[in-house]
Amino acid sequence: MTTASRPTPSPAMADSADVLVIGSGIAGCAAAIEAARAGAQVTLACAGGLFSGSSFFPGTWGLGLIGPKDDEDADDLAQTILKVGCGVADTDLVHTLVEDIRPSMAWLVKLGAVLSRPANEASAQQAAFIPCFDHKHRLWRGLTRDSTQRAFAAAFERLGIRVLARCELLNLIESDEAESRRITGALLFDHEGKRLVAIPARAVVIAAGGTGGLFERSLTSRDVLSSAHGIALAHGCTLINIEFMQMMPGLVAPRRNIVFNEKSFRYARMDPQPARELLELRSTYGPFTSRLASRAIDLAIDRAGAAGMPLRYDFPTHDVPEFVRTFCDWLECEQGIARDEELRIALYAHASNGGIRIDAHGSTGTAGLFAAGEVTGGMHGADRIGGLSSANGLVFGRRAGQAAAAWAKSVPAAQGSPAVGCVTEGLSSADARALTCRMRQTMSAHAMISRTETGLSRALADIAEMRSDMNRLCGQEPEWTEAAAARAMRLQSQLALAEAMLGAMRARTESLGSHYRADDTATDLPAA
Ligand SMILES: Cc1cc2nc3c(=O)[nH]c(=O)nc-3n(C[C@H](O)[C@H](O)[C@H](O)COP(=O)(O)OP(=O)(O)OC[C@H]3O[C@@H](n4cnc5c(N)ncnc54)[C@H](O)[C@@H]3O)c2cc1C
Repeated sequence: MTTASRPTPSPAMADSADVLVIGSGIAGCAAAIEAARAGAQVTLACAGGLFSGSSFFPGTWGLGLIGPKDDEDADDLAQTILKVGCGVADTDLVHTLVEDIRPSMAWLVKLGAVLSRPANEASAQQAAFIPCFDHKHRLWRGLTRDSTQRAFAAAFERLGIRVLARCELLNLIESDEAESRRITGALLFDHEGKRLVAIPARAVVIAAGGTGGLFERSLTSRDVLSSAHGIALAHGCTLINIEFMQMMPGLVAPRRNIVFNEKSFRYARMDPQPARELLELRSTYGPFTSRLASRAIDLAIDRAGAAGMPLRYDFPTHDVPEFVRTFCDWLECEQGIARDEELRIALYAHASNGGIRIDAHGSTGTAGLFAAGEVTGGMHGADRIGGLSSANGLVFGRRAGQAAAAWAKSVPAAQGSPAVGCVTEGLSSADARALTCRMRQTMSAHAMISRTETGLSRALADIAEMRSDMNRLCGQEPEWTEAAAARAMRLQSQLALAEAMLGAMRARTESLGSHYRADDTATDLPAA
């Protein structure tokens, strides 16, 4: 950004913390609790309310969580993650994830969370409990939203964790001692007080969720801003597997932002009607994958565009399966949609499989900076087994919290006022809205299912143009306010992530798992 002559802002100072956690989804909460249990003074800041993000997505009962049944199953699960991940997952992270899931479930129960289970052994053996993309049953538990929230809230209270809700991370603060470059705090924007706040911290854990915020249609909550990856990049972190993002069919009419239940594909009637075996196959998993022949169905949905593909159900009238009864009740009673009504479905950006590169302790490689949950990558590959994103948040959230607390004990507090860097540029809200809209349009047009060299290079050029438009508009903004500065900083970080994703998608010229290159002629497509 250009630097016009503006008053030099001096952000308000917040009380310092040993460990500052960014994000109040499952990963951030787990990190905050474990850091506090290790004796650290912990502050948690989140763009949404306390208990937000995809972890507490409104309108769902909660999250499925899977793990190995026993040690033998642990080996199989690790091998299956690596296989489904198509060879791009990090083997060490995969083993750490699998080993720590059962202890993390026990930890949650000790905190007071009630984990739901299949009703009985017979229902546990139903095909519906085989995780998406998996080949066998695992240990399945349900993290019900209310119970998890109550258990976390009680732990926060007991451990004295300070919460700064609706406070957005804009930048990290580094010590200016050249010989010991390390993170010493963060610059936040307090959306309620409309002011910048600097908070000194010996360690920071980023648990800010995935990449859905860069897209027009996203099945993540809107407080998942997708700016934290860009901030981490600016402070020496690297990204892994960032081209792999789950894309999920969802309703656009008669209601929007509702996941389309994949198990209902087998009863769907559309035009042209896909072959029966493709619909059966598509009913076994939620997010798009290029690995299976039923990708043809998602490509047909994608071709229908923003208006969505029209579809009706043709449910059986005799020997009605249990699933159909429950599903129709849910459709009619909770969503107000009649079972014979026309639906329109389109693809939504969903959970990210890649993100900030970490080690088994959540360390990013930048001193004092840790990360956990969906903002990170490596423990999943090109496709991810269902129920492992909640597991990832729990396992690496706890590990990152413990490691951040240990690091905080080993370093001195930052001296004096932190150097917060240049925050003298600002964007008007109209300009920020227009640029965000352009970024989402570009990402939705070129970085969803159908990716090509032409589209991705065009998108990269668009992002570069947006960046230069933003610099020009920042220079023209007559009145500097702290809110205007926050808007510019958020967009700058989002554009950095958009550019990194597009670059990774462009570099991967072959289709792999959730990444589909429409110009990869080696991918043989059956007709839909
Ligand atoms: C409808 C739905 C169903 C799902 N079902 C399952 C399932 O059954 N099983 C499963 O394993 N996974 C599931 N997932 C995925 C899973 O929910 C997420 O991957 C996981 O919960 C992410 O947890 P997290 O803590 O890493 O991030 P999130 O829960 O997304 O939390 C992100 C937090 O970061 C904050 N934040 C973002 N940016 C900033 C910023 N710049 N500054 C400050 N705060 C910031 C947000 O306010 C939020 O508090 C589902 C997702 C959705 C949307």
